[in-house]
Formats: sequence, structure tokens, C-alpha cells
Amino acid sequence: MTDRTDAPKNNHPLDTAPVNQAVDGEWANLLSPQRRQLIRDSGLAIGALAFAGLAAPTRATGSPQASGVADAGKNLAEPVHKPGESPWGYETYKQATPRPAGIRPGEKQLPARPRAYTDIKSYHAHIYFDEDSYEKAALIRRWAAERFAVELGDWNLEPRGPHTTPSFYFGFANALLPTVLPWLQLNSLGLTILIHPNTDDPRADHLYYALWVNRSQPVNAFDWPTREQRKDLSVEQIYPNTKPHVTLET
Ligand code: ZN
Repeated sequence: MTDRTDAPKNNHPLDTAPVNQAVDGEWANLLSPQRRQLIRDSGLAIGALAFAGLAAPTRATGSPQASGVADAGKNLAEPVHKPGESPWGYETYKQATPRPAGIRPGEKQLPARPRAYTDIKSYHAHIYFDEDSYEKAALIRRWAAERFAVELGDWNLEPRGPHTTPSFYFGFANALLPTVLPWLQLNSLGLTILIHPNTDDPRADHLYYALWVNRSQPVNAFDWPTREQRKDLSVEQIYPNTKPHVTLET
């Protein structure tokens, strides 16, 4: 389950990959207000992330601007090389343009046919906010609950699962999409909103099949199993829990 409100807090959704939970958590923290708090309190910066998954993130001393942020995405698995020489050698300009391995999640070549839209069983809308915009999130939350029969989740004030900033979500049936989508477009109040379908491929739902209102932001899907790796192909269900009583404005 990805976003279920009854799921244990702070659990990564990838029950199949518990070994990577710590690393995933560090990635989430790196992108969250927790990281700012850490820098402010300790004077340390998170730096030199083990991009290849070889080790947990380490912390470098010095200013965040000088070390941690700049090094966060550095590929530490660079080849051995002599000091003063490029680790990549001097022939990279001759390299032919490589072909990426995958075209669509789980496929190594162009798909033979389109995926059936009926694979989508429901939708989630995740509304992201921070300490400066939570009142906007609260207003969207109240307005939505008053108007739509949706599954309204808890407030998440910490990164949770694939969501790297504070958020809340509501799930809704396919039939509501033609209404909820334009409603969120006009009532986002400028917040970033992720709308994703629920199919039997949650990783792709979040990474490849997503709609964004306003700006997008990172989704933490490290080591999330692909559809082929999932043992259980069940699809997340929606159980509306709101009692709409306000007539939708038209
Ligand atoms: Zn979701």
C-alpha cells in the first residue's frame, strides 16, 4: 500500500525492499525541511551521498553551500584515475550516442500496443505544502471534503513514502476525474499537487503516469519494486470517508 492512512507512519511503501529503507529515508530527509533543520542546528551539511547505494550518506563539515548541496548528486563511483587527470580519460568526445535501455517502465522496446486506460481503478491527489503554505493546504482540504465524496487521508507533516515534503492526499473514483481535475487546477492556490492513477504498478503510477498541477517536485521511488518485481499485483482501493454537503460551484 502506498498512501493508506492506516499504514504505519514513516514506513517506506516498499515492504519488499526493507534493506533500503534507511537510504530511502535519508534521501527523503535530504529533500525535506528536516534537512534544513539539521543544517541550522548542527552546522553540518549532508554531503557526499552514496549515489550508487554503496553506503549511507555521510556528513561533510563546512558550509552547506560549499559542500553538501554541491556534492549531493555527485557520482562517487567514478573510475580510478591519476591526480590531475580526468577520471573519464580523454576519448569521451568519440563516444557514440547510447540508446537508453527502457522506453516505458518494465519494457525494453517500444510497446506493441497502448495500455488500456481501464487499468486505472482510481486516483490520488497529493497536495504538498510547507510551513509557509499550510493554511492554503488546509483550505483546499476543507473545500474538497465539503464538496466531494473522497477518501481523505491524514495530515503528513513529515516525508512519507514517496512524498518528500509535508502533504495530505485524497483518493477519488475515476468518475470524479473530469470534475476534480479542473477543480484542483482552479483551486490549487499555487501549491504543488500530484495526481496519480492507481493501477497494478504503483511505481509507474507515481513516476510515469503522473499529472502535476503547478510545479513538480521530486518523488522518492528508490528501489520501489517494478511491476515485474511485485509479488502481489493488487491495486489500491478507494474508500470514501467524507460527507459532502456543499453544492459544487458551477
Ligand atoms: Zn498516492
